[in-house]
Amino acid sequence: MKTDGRRQRSVKAAEHIVEGHGVAPGIAIGRAFVVEHGISQVPEYNIGSAEVAAECQRFNEAVTYSQRQVGKLQDKARRLSGAAAEELGYILEANLQMLTGSRLVRGVEDRIGRQRINAEAAVQAEMADIAQSFSAIGDPYLAGRMQDINDVGMRLIRSLTNTPYKALSGLPEGTVVIAEEITPADTALMDPARIAGFATALGGAESHTAIVARSLGLPAVLGAADVVTAVKTGDTVVVDGGRGRIVVNPGSRTKARFRQRRQELAREQRLLARLRDLPARSRDGVEVTLQANLELPLELDMVNQVGAAGIGLLRSEFFFMNRDDLPSQDEQYTALSSLVEGMAGRPVTIRTLDVGGEKLAPALGQHFAASTNPALGLRAIRLSLKVRSLLEDQLAAMLRAGAHGPVRILLPMITTPGEVVQVREVLKRVARRLKRRGQAIAAPLPPLGVLIEVPAAALAADGLAQVADFFSIGTNDLTMYTLAIDRSDEQMADQFNSLHPAVIRLVGHSIEAARQAGIPINICGEMAGEPRYTALLLGLGLRDLSMAATALPRVKQRIRALDVSEAARRSQTILEQHDSGRIAAMLDDLNALI
Ligand code: PEP
Ligand code: MG
Repeated sequence: MKTDGRRQRSVKAAEHIVEGHGVAPGIAIGRAFVVEHGISQVPEYNIGSAEVAAECQRFNEAVTYSQRQVGKLQDKARRLSGAAAEELGYILEANLQMLTGSRLVRGVEDRIGRQRINAEAAVQAEMADIAQSFSAIGDPYLAGRMQDINDVGMRLIRSLTNTPYKALSGLPEGTVVIAEEITPADTALMDPARIAGFATALGGAESHTAIVARSLGLPAVLGAADVVTAVKTGDTVVVDGGRGRIVVNPGSRTKARFRQRRQELAREQRLLARLRDLPARSRDGVEVTLQANLELPLELDMVNQVGAAGIGLLRSEFFFMNRDDLPSQDEQYTALSSLVEGMAGRPVTIRTLDVGGEKLAPALGQHFAASTNPALGLRAIRLSLKVRSLLEDQLAAMLRAGAHGPVRILLPMITTPGEVVQVREVLKRVARRLKRRGQAIAAPLPPLGVLIEVPAAALAADGLAQVADFFSIGTNDLTMYTLAIDRSDEQMADQFNSLHPAVIRLVGHSIEAARQAGIPINICGEMAGEPRYTALLLGLGLRDLSMAATALPRVKQRIRALDVSEAARRSQTILEQHDSGRIAAMLDDLNALI
């Protein structure tokens, strides 16, 4: 079996292109840093005999997860062509075999039971043992296999520890990060002042990794299957986040072309910046509120730069990422109050914790272990209602931050009115407790809103409108749950389509329910930040859109050119269509016309 494809390819330095999904626009040109495994220190500890079975189970889950990851990469590799595909195929096949009952896997299980050590330490010890026996034989073929064993071992350790790429925080300025996968937590560690952009083999366009990249303004390409083997650390690479391309070792003419394109984009940005203080008012005089979504506190500057009317979605997950413990109430309060003060009187909509699915908080890991399908399991509000202290601390921090400026509270993954009623009771109880202690809190209590992001919530929106103070439509999860397509699955990225008639109708239905109940409604899913959808969203009746701050100027530009009454007339016809292709064509016509 041929397993040394990486070494053969690494000697080539000719310009070549790797294709993927462009998820965050912009051009990054820089030196590549290929993330090998991202684990600086492997945790080592002893376990009791009663814990052996659970530790073996945890190890087996990591094996299954790793097999799935390699399987996904194989699927992608099959769709590539040429020698690169063949070599990548060999490597992945070897990795998969090693994950299926090999000496490595058997040896780890044995060590956990015999030596009573944790799984990560057992993997590391087994790798060292295999390396030693291979080198004792002195066979060059076996020496080559050691690379595969290391790859698989590090993959297992990474699956076990869920360690973010700590290495990302200390890279030289202008680095382009290349990795198999970058989680939302990893992305949060990227400093846009140092990292120019990134590209990965796995990940879809609506994944949270893509969302964080867009909000940080980092050019990014995801789902580029062979990027890790095609690039080596130190190569010069271009990441074209708009077109979904990575150019490896670009020649001087190519580089000049991309530099020019980058300058054009910068010029466009400067022109868009002039819109900052102009109203988001359509040609026929319809006023629209444009707010920003915020994933990380460092985005606040950008939110202010683009003149956002408020923060329409503050994803509070950042508090819980990249740490092993839970943030205290005081810690959350300090961060939230400085964001609220930073918005100087403009409203801030803070969402309660939305972990689960692809967004994991290590300190809450024990709650997810039992979930067979995390996207359908104990996540978001369901977790908050189960771990009450978590919810109480979050609500207390939000109430206290509400003493510094207007705050609204948004609840993710709501499916029934009962969930809202329960949270409202907790909110009132927490408020009473804080007042008794003499702490300043928001008065009156902040509005409590529902994120409409599962079909059940959209279809039963009339009932939810009876108990909610406002709605916000989350089209990312609404599309995922309606179409049964994972938003972060790069294999399905082409079919993840928010213009499916079912999604559009659920949006229309939610807007109608809010109108009838007389409560405000906005949209905070990624659709809101895409100028292509603006006419449709306004045509359906939305007047408040929240999006990545970096997307706001372009959407404002679109609104200022729009005739909303014409958009409304055509949107009604779009709502009646049965086919997403037809809907897309009608929307493109509408965009060409007004
Ligand atoms: C959504 O699902 O549309 C949403 C806004 O929330 P998130 O992207 O954080 O899941
Ligand atoms: Mg969501």
